[in-house]
Formats: sequence, C-alpha cells, structure tokens
Amino acid sequence: MTDLQALVDAIAEEIQTREQRGKVADYIPQLAKVDPHHFGIAITTVDGQEFVAGDADLPFSIQSVSKVFALTLALGMVGDRLWNRVGREPSGSAFNSIVQLEHENGRPRNPFINAGAIVVDDILLGGHKPREAIGEIVQFVRFLANDDSIYIDHAVARSEQETGFRNFALAQFMRSFGVIEHPAEQVLGVYFHQCALAMSCRQLSKAGLFLAASGRNPETGRNVVSRDRARRINALMLTCGHYDGSGEFAYRVGLPGKSGVGGGILAVAPGKASIAVWSPGLNVNGNSLLGSQALEIMAQRTGWSIFGA
Ligand code: GLU
Repeated sequence: MTDLQALVDAIAEEIQTREQRGKVADYIPQLAKVDPHHFGIAITTVDGQEFVAGDADLPFSIQSVSKVFALTLALGMVGDRLWNRVGREPSGSAFNSIVQLEHENGRPRNPFINAGAIVVDDILLGGHKPREAIGEIVQFVRFLANDDSIYIDHAVARSEQETGFRNFALAQFMRSFGVIEHPAEQVLGVYFHQCALAMSCRQLSKAGLFLAASGRNPETGRNVVSRDRARRINALMLTCGHYDGSGEFAYRVGLPGKSGVGGGILAVAPGKASIAVWSPGLNVNGNSLLGSQALEIMAQRTGWSIFGA
C-alpha cells in the first residue's frame, strides 16, 4: 500500500527541480500572465481521503477540463441522442482544428476537442438562456465538488471573448452545416464562461471523484450518473482527453485524463481515486508538461495504470 501523502510530497519536490517547464498558453492574454512556477497536486480516494501537495489550494483556469463536466450534464439532458451530433473517435488533430469538420459534414470527432465541446454547449442551451446554461454548469461543478466557493473568472472569459477568433470560426462553420442551432455568440458565451471556471487541484479532484467511483459521489452518497455512463466517459477521456497527445498520455500514464490549456489535468483511476495536477507550462500538444510528468510518476509508483501495474 503506497503512502499517498509521502508520494504527493515527493512528486511536488521532484517536479520543482525540473528545468523544462513548457510554455504558458499566451493566445488567451489573461492566461499569459500566470506564473509558470506553480505546481499543485491533489488525490482524492474513493473512500474520501485527500492527499495534497504544492499549490493544491490555489484556483487556476480549468479551461478544457470543464468539457468533462459539460458533457456529463448534456448526456443527462439528452442521453445518447447527443451522439447524433458528436463522434466518439480520437481526432489526431490539434484541439482547435477545423480541417476534419469539412470532411465530415460539420460533425466534430469527439466532445473534447473545441468543436465538439461547442456542440455540447449548443445542446446545453436547448430551452435555456445563455446565462441559465452557464449557471447550470457552475451549480453542477459546485455540487460535484461539494463546494459553493467555486467561481468563474470573468476576466479570463472576457479575454477569450475578445480573442477567440478560431472558436468563432469553428462555431460559424458548424452552424453552416446545421450542426449548431443557436447563434455562435450565444454558444461561445457559454463555452468561454465554462472554460473560465477557476478551481484548485483539491476542488477538481473532488469534482472528478464520481468518475472513479462508478458514477457515485462517495462523499455525498448521491448518484451522479449510472455506472455505464461513468465507464464510457472514462473511455472518452482516455482516447480523446489530451487531443493529439492522447496516445502518448495513455502510453505514459495509462489513466483516463482531461487536460486544459490552463495547465490542469484531471485523471481518473477507476475504483481508486481522482487526481488533479496543475502546472501552467504546456507541451507542444497544449497539455501540461510537468503535470503529465507528475501523473506518470504517480501512476508508476501506485501501479494504478488501467493497463496493469
Ligand atoms: N478555452 C480554450 C480554447 O477554446 C480551451 C482549450 C483547452 O483548454 O485545451 O481555446
């Protein structure tokens, strides 16, 4: 049995000595201001124990990690009909790529690339005003983490609203195929606010715990999703959660995971724990460089890889 507190302490110490820290995302001006020296890690086990080290209580911009929560909500709303509009295959292209859409009638490959997440938000907008859809996402994440202090960083949302030209292009392009039903401004309003959720590693690992616990939130005792749905969301995280770096992440870490350009990663060890790491510098695929390395060490030392110890 691994001493998990000793493990997170050792990882935080080891990671801080690494010289290559990656490059902080600068295409969203507000994210470019983040100090690349932060590192945090939090493990929440399915029996409710928390092990944290480094900047584990400092909120950061979760960005695309939010796509897991939005997908879970949208599946709750429309069930498997969601898959009529979004695929379930790894894209093999960059997170914000537009090329595949032209060949596949505007239907995104999966819900974790930007195009797919924008379609998920279009679904969440069904019957709602943008403000209500954003409110639902925030409430859902607060419920999952059992923490009402989780908030949206409006400066980050505004920063993306002003500069997210590529996401506007994706949304307009998909709307031209009829894949998106609401105006691009409305869908992206939801998308940018969801990406601007600010959470700490501790909060994020708690919010992801239902995926490690067969769909149940062990802390509150409430069922979030069915066992089947939790397993399937994990499968999508494994195959698509790191964009065109998903194969490499599966190879090195061996756990379902979702990254965000804020430098956060949520990883799930089914039946064992939910793990969140944060280091703002990114690798070439837009995934946290040191965050991935920290998870690799963690998986090696715990033997938690789903492919075998
Ligand atoms: N808000 C970011 C974007 O749309 C999310 C990308 C990410 O975190 O990978 O560019």
